This record gives sequence, structure tokens and C-alpha cells, in this order.
Amino acid sequence: MSTAVELAKQITQEVIAPLAAEIDRERRFPKEAMEALGKARLLGLLVSEELGGLGGNLSDLAAVTEIIAEACGSTAMCYLMHSCATMVVASKATPDQQQRYLRPIARGEKLGTLAFSETGTGAHFYSPEIKAVKDGGQFVLSGKKSFVTNGDKADFLVVVTNASSAELGLDMLIVDSSAPGVRFDGKWEGIGLTGNNSIALYMDQVKVPAEQLVGAEGDGMGIIFQVVAPTFILGVSGVNAGLARGAYQAALNHAQTRKYADGRSLADIQAIQFYLSDMFGSVESASLFVRNAAAKAVQGDADAILHVMQSKVFASEQAIKVTNLAMQVCGGQGYTGALPVERYLRDARAGAVMAPTTEVLKEWVGKSVAGVPLF
Ligand SMILES: Cc1cc2nc3c(=O)[nH]c(=O)nc-3n(C[C@H](O)[C@H](O)[C@H](O)COP(=O)(O)OP(=O)(O)OC[C@H]3O[C@@H](n4cnc5c(N)ncnc54)[C@H](O)[C@@H]3O)c2cc1C
Repeated sequence: MSTAVELAKQITQEVIAPLAAEIDRERRFPKEAMEALGKARLLGLLVSEELGGLGGNLSDLAAVTEIIAEACGSTAMCYLMHSCATMVVASKATPDQQQRYLRPIARGEKLGTLAFSETGTGAHFYSPEIKAVKDGGQFVLSGKKSFVTNGDKADFLVVVTNASSAELGLDMLIVDSSAPGVRFDGKWEGIGLTGNNSIALYMDQVKVPAEQLVGAEGDGMGIIFQVVAPTFILGVSGVNAGLARGAYQAALNHAQTRKYADGRSLADIQAIQFYLSDMFGSVESASLFVRNAAAKAVQGDADAILHVMQSKVFASEQAIKVTNLAMQVCGGQGYTGALPVERYLRDARAGAVMAPTTEVLKEWVGKSVAGVPLF
């Protein structure tokens, strides 16, 4: 078992799990959890050991997000979006970016996130519409990004822009939240992941020095497909596998402890046993699918991307199925909110609609297996 997995289990048990219901009920950012992850250096999971990080890989990320999500989906999502931003910076960091971002991340002193989505482009985040112009040695950004997880709690944002000329493609810019012209607004009103603080980012003539560019001009599209996609997809697949496992465990516990007057428990009823069997199979197969896809990505297997894409489709579908079954097993008591199953049900609904969405991925996987060009 890797150090990261052991650390994640310990923090989840000691800090994240005890606060999960409160975070959800109060719809608040999981501050204590993120601080504990920072202290344990897990915010630097994907930062190299030379820069003070844990030097983890995508298998570690999927394992850690699964462990955290089994207890708290909101914390897992905040952690995942930070990890995606870290991975983008780490993929092509200049020595200056290593000092100003990666080293502090490894020490647990900086929190990041991705600011990709826009209201207009929706699931097609790779076609940004924000206004971005190159002005001498800097980029000037204006416009709105939606669904920015971690929101105003993030110290830096990885913003996807189209500041380069059309021929060159997209750019990834590191924008400090403290930069003049950066403003966050709104509060997260989603049905689930209620603590993920996914809010709107407004940029008004934000001047971003050229040193904040990740890689070269026009590298953005390559970074989206080679770095962001595998990191986000495997991480969110881990989240979905974890949510499914958490719901299954909660339902199993309830089935064993809820007794009728004649002494029988729910677990003694055959219909419930069938549900438990179905859930057990779904949880294990989702988890194994994600682990296998992550291992393939780490090994650089030729078919890795196919497995990675399908892992999100599969884990999201299993999470929705298992959390629904958990609700059925727990009956009215589950529906009232007395048990955590309704939280898992709400949290599990997000994965399939987060870009790349289930529909988009199914099209890409279907085309890939059939040998049809993606675009
Ligand atoms: C909890 C949560 C956290 C998030 N955090 C972040 C974040 O940190 N950073 C960030 O940048 N974004 C984030 N997002 C945004 C997310 O990744 C999506 O961009 C966003 O959910 C898209 O919403 P939409 O309503 O605009 O979708 P739409 O684009 O309107 O899509 C609606 C439906 O149509 C389907 N659809 C659209 N186009 C096609 C097509 N061509 N083929 C088939 N089906 C299609 C979609 O699959 C979906 O089912 C977050 C979202 C959620 C729910």
C-alpha cells in the first residue's frame, strides 16, 4: 500500500468522515479537511519528490479520491479539482513556476482549481469564449467562468483561454485569485456536493504576465487532452467509485442493524439480499475498472485512453445505480435524511454531467472502438 493511500485513509477516518454530514448540511467548504490534507502533504500528491511533493501518479490519485469520496463527496471534489490544477502546472512548469506554485502546493500552502467551464460553451469547455488578448508581455482576460470548484477558497486558477491566434490554439494561464480584476460571485446551489463551493469567477481586465503561461503559446489543447483529461477523468471516476462504496456500506450497515418486532433484520429479507448482492458487484467492478484504467495510463499502454474514458462512464453509472439501490434498501428512513444514503445519492448525480459528460464520452469511446475519427 502506498504512503499516499495510508495517509488518505488516516485523514479520512480522523477528520473527513466525522465532518461529512455537517459539511453537507451546512453547505460549507470542507476547510478542516483541506487543511488536514495539506498538512499531510497530500495536496502535493502529484508534485515530484524533488520539489517536496509525494511524487504520486494517476493510480494514486484515483485511489485517494475513492477513499475520500467514500466518506465525503464534497471534500473529494475539492481535492480533485486542486489536483487537476496542480497536474497542469507540473506538466510543464518553468523553474519560476516550480518555486511559486509547486513547492508551496507540496507544503500544503496553496490551493488551486480549474476554471474551464463557461455558461455559453457548457460541456464543450475546450471552446472558451472569454475575451483574452495578448498585450505586449502579458495576457489581458475579461469574462466569466462558471462552476469553479473551490471558488474563492482557491489561491490560483488554471484558466483556459483563446488568447493565441486561432492557428496556435488554446492557452493555459495560471491566474492568482488575488490579481486585480478577479472576483468570485454567487454560492453553490447544487443538489449535491454541497460543500464544493463551485461558484462563478468574473475577470475584468485581469493582467496576467506571460510567465504565467503553462508551456508554450497554443499548448492548451494538447494539455487538455494529454494532462487534464486523464487526471480529471480518473480522479472523478475514483470519486464515483468511492461514493458507490460509501452508499453500499451505509445501506449494508442499516440492513444489518434495523430490526423488526419479530427480531428479523432487513438483511434477513431475500429482496434486500438481492439488492446487496447487486450493489456489492457494482461497487467492486467500478473500483476495479478504475484501477485498471489508471494502471494502464501510468504504464502508458496504447489503449489506455479508451479505458480511462470508459472508466468515467462506468463508474458514474454504477454510482447512480448503487446510490439508488441504497435508498431502496434503507426505505423511508433513508429518504428522511436520517441516514447518509440520500447524501450519496445527491452527490453521485454530478459525475455523469461533469465534462466530459457521459454522452460525449460514449460517443468518443464508441467512435474509438469502431475506428471512426473523433472529430
Ligand atoms: C459539482 C460540479 C463541479 C464542477 N466543477 C468545475 C470546475 O471546477 N471547473 C470547471 O471548469 N467546470 C466545473 N464544472 C462544470 C462541468 O464540468 C460542466 O462544464 C458543466 O456541468 C456543464 O453544464 P451545462 O449545463 O452547460 O451542460 P450542457 O453543455 O448544456 O449539456 C447538457 C446535456 O447535454 C449533453 N450534451 C451536450 N453536448 C452534447 C453532444 N455534443 N453530444 C451529446 N450530448 C451532449 C451533455 O452531455 C449533458 O447531458 C462542475 C460541474 C459540477 C456539476
